[in-house]
Amino acid sequence: MMGFPESSTKPELVLKELREIASKDLDPNSKRMFGHTYDTGLEEVKEVARKAFLMFLDKTMLDFTVYPSVLELEREVVRMSASLVGGDDSIVGAFTYGGTESIMLAVKAARDYYKKKGKRLKLILPVTGHPAFVKAAEYLEVSLVKVPVDNETFKVDIEAVKEEVDSEAVMIVGSAPNYPMGVIDDIGALSDIAVDKKAWLHVDACIGGFLLPFLREVGDDIPKFGFELPGVTSLSMDLHKYGYAPRGASVVLYRGEEYRLNHIFVHPKWPGYPIVNMAVLSTRSAGPLAASWLVLKSLGREGYQRLAEKVLYARKRIIEALSSMDFRVLGDPRGGIVAFTTGKISPTALASSMRKRGWYIQVQPGSRKLGLPKSIHLTISPAHADVLDNFLRDLEEAKREVEESGGISPEEVASLAGLIESSSVDEVLALLGVSGRGGGLSDDVLSIIDELIHYLDPDLVEELLRRAVSKLFT
Ligand SMILES: *Cc1c(COP(=O)(O)O)cnc(C)c1O
Repeated sequence: MMGFPESSTKPELVLKELREIASKDLDPNSKRMFGHTYDTGLEEVKEVARKAFLMFLDKTMLDFTVYPSVLELEREVVRMSASLVGGDDSIVGAFTYGGTESIMLAVKAARDYYKKKGKRLKLILPVTGHPAFVKAAEYLEVSLVKVPVDNETFKVDIEAVKEEVDSEAVMIVGSAPNYPMGVIDDIGALSDIAVDKKAWLHVDACIGGFLLPFLREVGDDIPKFGFELPGVTSLSMDLHKYGYAPRGASVVLYRGEEYRLNHIFVHPKWPGYPIVNMAVLSTRSAGPLAASWLVLKSLGREGYQRLAEKVLYARKRIIEALSSMDFRVLGDPRGGIVAFTTGKISPTALASSMRKRGWYIQVQPGSRKLGLPKSIHLTISPAHADVLDNFLRDLEEAKREVEESGGISPEEVASLAGLIESSSVDEVLALLGVSGRGGGLSDDVLSIIDELIHYLDPDLVEELLRRAVSKLFT
């Protein structure tokens, strides 16, 4: 076991060690990842953003009385963001460290808004809604119901939402777009329900907030999803996605100050200085904020439009190529995401064949029991526009390879699943070769796990994943 290092080592030497550890990773700037990265391909913008990040690295966002620049930058970032999503001067918000934090705060604000009226909040989430809402509901002890989506369009079933609205103390969630399929819910219809029932509507534009407005400006058909719809109460949009800022940057917006008051944490009743937080986190670097501010100002509308054009071009070509390969695109994707099912061949086998060719595409295992399809998810970056020929050629080759080799058979999955259902958790983890002690997960194991996630009962999957992850982090 590695204990605490006894002696000092020259920082340069430790840095070398760090480089070695990092060398196992995929490179988010390689243009070869269709997930977990949002690459402009613009080296100068990236370089200057890193400088801004470093310039503010040692300053904390905690105390704006010490660093007035932090207050100024946050106000400007919030104003710039609000102006993209139909916000006038009455819209207020806050900068957070990510979509999950923005969502957590919006759910808390809604919960306490209704609590003051003596009511308990219920959260109504489409099955395609982000798990961050489930997490917020768990942490904040808010009751949650999931509502189905249409089997063809993958948009939330509006009638099902209406049925769940049994008082005004509900928070309806709509995604613009959702993460799994890149499909935009009918936010207009949700807004009508919210106005009618005085309910709270949160638009999760985490992944679309900084892309959809510019796609619309360059001619893509994008429906209204922001504060121009009267029922929208709050909205989340992530700077660290299509805002192209470094990690740790998101914005949450509210229709007016009265809604945001419950978001703010204040505590002067202790012997220390008065604590005032506009976020969940307290001490945190102002680096992400400063870098976000810089990227927004530096790209400007023109820059974001040019990047949106690239995403649009890549999305259209990818969709065309997928249908010519007999893959089925799920729904009508309107942002930077495309998801597709792969017919007879297994998406996990396709993903590992692509990984061998140096590409990362994301497997969405779905669930047999929950009626969710197995699919592949692609998050498109502007930089992908430069490498599409290579990507699509390799995808076609990978498809052919998997068709020839077959991959893991349904019978094998079923028999492995049977074994798992009759074994203890520890036996299962040993069987799959999941262990701590520095081991990672091999590609083969990952593929089998995705197949099993699809096949097994979701409650068992949840338990197995929790235990497996706990082992990995030990
Ligand atoms: C990414 C994402 C989130 C969560 O954001 P994090 O920044 O990962 O915490 C929420 N909703 C949608 C639609 C997202 O794409």
